[in-house]
Amino acid sequence: MRFETAAIHAGQEPEPRTGAVVVPIFQTSTYAQPEVGKHTGYEYSRTQNPTREAMQDCLAALEGGKYGLGFASGLGATTTTMSLLKQGDHVISSADVYGGTYRVFEKVFRDFGLDFTFVDSTNLEEVEAAKKPNTKMLWLETPSNPLLQITDLKKAAEMSKQNGWTLVVDNTFASPYLQRPLEHGVDVVLHSATKFLGGHSDVVLGAVVTSNDAIYERLSFSQNAMGAVCGPFDSWIVLRGLKTLAIRMDRHVANAEKVVSWLSENSQVTKVLYPGLPSFPGHEIAKRQMSGFGSMISFYVEGGEAMAKKICAKTKVFTLAESLGGVESLIEHPGAMTHASIPEEIRSARGLGDDLVRLSVGIEHVDDLIDDLDQAFRS
Ligand SMILES: *Cc1c(COP(=O)(O)O)cnc(C)c1O
Repeated sequence: MRFETAAIHAGQEPEPRTGAVVVPIFQTSTYAQPEVGKHTGYEYSRTQNPTREAMQDCLAALEGGKYGLGFASGLGATTTTMSLLKQGDHVISSADVYGGTYRVFEKVFRDFGLDFTFVDSTNLEEVEAAKKPNTKMLWLETPSNPLLQITDLKKAAEMSKQNGWTLVVDNTFASPYLQRPLEHGVDVVLHSATKFLGGHSDVVLGAVVTSNDAIYERLSFSQNAMGAVCGPFDSWIVLRGLKTLAIRMDRHVANAEKVVSWLSENSQVTKVLYPGLPSFPGHEIAKRQMSGFGSMISFYVEGGEAMAKKICAKTKVFTLAESLGGVESLIEHPGAMTHASIPEEIRSARGLGDDLVRLSVGIEHVDDLIDDLDQAFRS
């Protein structure tokens, strides 16, 4: 099945008892067992739930993977994924990661005896140089948040294989419609389905997809043992979102490209970060490993923090809010909002200064989006 068809049919056979075409919301905590020691395949909803399974199977099909696992949030997926590691293990991570990923690594897992080194993963020599005898995992985000940096997945997968590392890629910014990391040799794909997969800013959910039997076995055990599972209703909402992922992404990308052109010609914008720009450092790699450049855009403005914050406050169609990937366009100031948990000196050193603005371009009419940015810059 091709992507658009799998999005609507994978994991979604008509319900056997009634023929319901849409997977029902099995809003139940437990299941009747015919005799002691015999059950229907369903015992308790933390362990198995048919609505969650449909969403997991559909997402796995879209990523080209064997197994999907759903979690209560993207960070729930992250914390559970870290159960692949043991005390004393070392992780190399992209420095430009989601702020909450950085926070849970540094402020939670470090206390559990895990060690982390954050590097510019666009430069694989830096990754190589960070390796230690106890390195067990390479954690990448590409395109990254919020600088949209691109890491070469194929080369990172080769390096991980040589070194025996588990390679995890946070694919939230691209979605499987634009990038399928497993096809490049990645072991685990992670999503905040809160973003493009759900697509309507009405749910918080996370997921991982893998084709590796041993990794699946461990994470499936941890899904139940650690308990950060997603509920049936939230799974259903994401399953519904997946059905329109392809057409939404086409419009997201088309709109983003026009907004990028407009920003690039604005004299108050000092630099636009977007992997689709030929001048962008990761452009050639993005062209190879993605089928579109996404709808996340970051840009620096003349006039520093005051100007950046003013633009965020003045837009009317772009809503000032954290998060991304919904049908509605959002604007935010990473330094004061999504990435405030990263210490100021580290942020500035990485190009995450207070003159940076991030856009999540939605699927409204693009002229309304450009008019809105225009009036915000002028006011
Ligand atoms: C939002 C986000 C997360 C965390 O997901 P939640 O669903 O908010 O827990 C992880 N990675 C990226 C890239 C994100 O944008």
